[in-house]
Amino acid sequence: MNIRVLGCHGSQLPSYNTTSFLLGQNVLVDAGTITTVLSLEEQLKIDYILVTHAHLDHVRDLTFITDNICYQRRKKQLIIISTKGIIEAIHRHLFNNVIWPDFSRLPSAKSPVIKFRIIKPGKKQTIDNLCITAVDLHHVVETVGYVIESGGKTVIFMGDTGPTEEAWQIAKKTKGLRAIFIETSLPDAMKDIAAKTGHLTPLSLETELKKLQSIKPDIYLYHMKPNYHEAIRKEIAAIKDREVHIIEDGQTIKI
Ligand SMILES: [Zn+2]
Ligand SMILES: [Zn+2]
Repeated sequence: MNIRVLGCHGSQLPSYNTTSFLLGQNVLVDAGTITTVLSLEEQLKIDYILVTHAHLDHVRDLTFITDNICYQRRKKQLIIISTKGIIEAIHRHLFNNVIWPDFSRLPSAKSPVIKFRIIKPGKKQTIDNLCITAVDLHHVVETVGYVIESGGKTVIFMGDTGPTEEAWQIAKKTKGLRAIFIETSLPDAMKDIAAKTGHLTPLSLETELKKLQSIKPDIYLYHMKPNYHEAIRKEIAAIKDREVHIIEDGQTIKI
């Protein structure tokens, strides 16, 4: 599984993009950064976008990719996948004909640019050559992570989350688990605001990782607030018994 990091941050500054991972050529996890990084040709190859939650740093480029697809007159629909509450939030608050045109009914209701696909946490789905399962997380809005299996190798993308339980229970039971992508948004000095906004700091990440007990997949860290990237990096160095990789925009990770 090739994972290209289009963006891995929890906000934006020059050279720091918001969250989006490209799996192979046609599947995205989140849509924070697509159209400023991928060529038009690459954008037109995208078939599925799995969305972790409706916050703007994860859905922003749903707007521009749908616009590009529409005016390139691509016939194949772009499938946007998530849980019912998350899909409803995206439809009601983004594709609402105020903030952006409702591309689930354009250019025509019969043949629109996007199709929303609602999935239930815990229920396995097949998309392309991937087997995916959504997992509930604990953020300030409805949020899921995704367990993604391909060719016997499994990766878990945890979306934005504070301390959580179920996802770790699932991770422990997952066969062939190679890697977990997990957030750490703020340094420990900001633990109070991190708790209020449903995010992790290096210390709370360390506590969370203990829930994996003896299971030791590679840990890929993302969603740092750009201004605190270096402070987080220093604090993460104190976690000794885990392989923790802090990822960068533009990187490709082979699992
Ligand atoms: Zn976020
Ligand atoms: Zn969020």
